[in-house]
Amino acid sequence: METVPEMFGANVFDDRQMKARLSEKVYNSLRRTIDEGKQLDISLANAVALAMKDWAVEKGATHYTHWFQPMTGVTAEKHDSFITPAPDGGVIMEFSGKELVKGEPDASSFPSGGLRATFEARGYTAWDPTSFAFIKDKTLCIPTAFCSYTGEALDKKTPLLRSMAALNTQALRILKLFGNDSVHMVRTSVGPEQEYFLVDKEMYDKRRDLIFTGRTLFGAKPPKGQEMDDHYFGIIKPRVAAFMADLNDELWKLGILAKTEHNEVAPAQHELAPIYSTTNIATDNNQLTMEIMQKVASKHGLVCLLHEKPFAGVNGSGKHNNWSIGTDTGVNLLTPGDTPYENAQFLLFLVAVIKAVDEYQDLLRLSVATAGNDHRLGANEAPPAVISIFLGDELEAVLEAIENDTAYKGEKTAKMQLGVDILPVFKKDTTDRNRTSPFAFTGNKFEFRMLGSSNSIACANIMLNSAVAEVLQGFADKLEGSSDFDKELHELIRDTIKEHKRIIFNGNGYGDEWMAEAEKRGLSNLKTTPDCMPKLLDKKNADMLISQKVYTKAELESRCEIMLENYVKAVNIEALTMSDMARKEILPAVEAYASSLAETALRKKELGADISQRYEKSVVSKLSSLADLIYDRTDVLDEATAKLKDIESIEEQGYFIRDEILPKMAALRVAADEAETMTDRKYWPFPTYGDLLFGVR
Ligand code: ADP
Ligand code: MG
Repeated sequence: METVPEMFGANVFDDRQMKARLSEKVYNSLRRTIDEGKQLDISLANAVALAMKDWAVEKGATHYTHWFQPMTGVTAEKHDSFITPAPDGGVIMEFSGKELVKGEPDASSFPSGGLRATFEARGYTAWDPTSFAFIKDKTLCIPTAFCSYTGEALDKKTPLLRSMAALNTQALRILKLFGNDSVHMVRTSVGPEQEYFLVDKEMYDKRRDLIFTGRTLFGAKPPKGQEMDDHYFGIIKPRVAAFMADLNDELWKLGILAKTEHNEVAPAQHELAPIYSTTNIATDNNQLTMEIMQKVASKHGLVCLLHEKPFAGVNGSGKHNNWSIGTDTGVNLLTPGDTPYENAQFLLFLVAVIKAVDEYQDLLRLSVATAGNDHRLGANEAPPAVISIFLGDELEAVLEAIENDTAYKGEKTAKMQLGVDILPVFKKDTTDRNRTSPFAFTGNKFEFRMLGSSNSIACANIMLNSAVAEVLQGFADKLEGSSDFDKELHELIRDTIKEHKRIIFNGNGYGDEWMAEAEKRGLSNLKTTPDCMPKLLDKKNADMLISQKVYTKAELESRCEIMLENYVKAVNIEALTMSDMARKEILPAVEAYASSLAETALRKKELGADISQRYEKSVVSKLSSLADLIYDRTDVLDEATAKLKDIESIEEQGYFIRDEILPKMAALRVAADEAETMTDRKYWPFPTYGDLLFGVR
């Protein structure tokens, strides 16, 4: 059997393969392309393509594809085989530099939010050489960006790369001010912790709500839920352990650093965390991880649910985006340093993040807004829809001391002088305890906890990188012209704390008191996707994203439209599925059971007047009322869904879904779930919550 180091990256054309298979000249030039973002010229691309193809064919690959991330949220691929006819009637396997660096998929079937009109459905994909090519299902996959012919981004990778470039430019300016000339590149890194549910495939196949929408639309509360807290970090069941072992192998072969796995809070819920990597790579890897999870689950007779809220009444699934900023010289800029200057530099980056999060709360919030995630944010299981930053008591005390020019209590009695004094050492342990904060400092990184489990992490990181770049730009503009650097730096940090401390909150983010307090502080509280999305086009936000060259105006408009469209479509499918299940499965089941009880009652009556039919009559009566209610509420829901297509603007459709459709779905569910509690299990048409949540052993 292969050892893990032997297996790791076996299906990746990584640096080891490049070094072994490319001439020194080609290798060095490719390395420069990767490290410095330089263009790769076509003769070099030909050499790389040849080596890549030979490697892939040796590993059994027959096809290649440009692998990209359109705005559907999942990845896309179009396979071409390597075969080229040879003069002798046979074929040879070929792959050119041109095919490596550029592809031309038909863009017309991907969401473009109005951009389509401007580019006549033609699009192209371009290789992102910083993310390694890999083999999946006998296909060489080349990570690419996806753009229209006129250059508009039609995907999530392009703006992500642009946001990383923006942050790099501005962070380098700041580092220069601190005398850091040896740094050539600043990159953000992310470690995304991924939550998911596993359910039995046979049961899943009987639930059309899971099949069509990824979540249960009906289901009475089971006798046991998560109240015993006996699942979190509990012993992993054999079937799940076998799945996890297999998953690790598959991920390792793809060079994905799967590291930690454990049971989560809800029954049947689990988590996987990789070791962090550069943001665009982490994003590619997370998309792959989600795909491989589903594939491996299916091999084990399981289904992996990535929906944010597959079950009402138990915790939903999120994704924690652990984010830091680092240099190519190996320094994490969010780590308090050893020297006074390093500390001052750390504090400047820290307050930059604080200011960025405060000024662009709405962008961060909307970057995680989907129909699925709306069920989590604001419920008492995930961070609220209000964004705040948790810093921990120690760091907050330091900032307070700077703000007020007072002594920092934990340390010496003298006032803290930036650029002169060093900071106390923060223990990670004391900074990582608040699980209710949407945005927590955890010692040397920030953990953004609002992402939904099925979200691409690209969106959140695009907003985060861009906002921080914008703030750093302002800082650099100010400091570059200063005559007394230390003094102005101190004032800048102090003033930034003063202006933005309202975003800092160390308490319980789930409490009602915090909601009241947050409102007093003027923090934004965007509860649903239709509330969020229009904010993307607010002048302040659009100006920033355009000026950082992350999005164009047209790209922003298209994103806003697509996100709303996704929301409307997702809920519309849910409403249609509910109605269908109510009419064709639930009502017939309730009727069949009621009829069998009525039959029994009649038989009993025949046996003699002294035999009671109280039980049958009572249940039949209740079920009949509930059947009427289910029937009426299904009608009401159908009427509302029918109106949807008459509403012209996508924004109005979003509000209609929020205010009219979702409440009607909830009402229908209440009646159906109550009927479930009174109906013989044998009659119930699909597996129950109890079956699903405790069915994998
Ligand atoms: P936990 O949050 O469970 O305490 P850790 O804090 O150790 O666990 O790590 C959670 C995730 O954060 C992992 O994916 C880890 O690789 C990632 N991580 C650790 N350090 C950094 C960093 N400097 N930048 C980005 N991600 C990081
Ligand atoms: Mg964590």
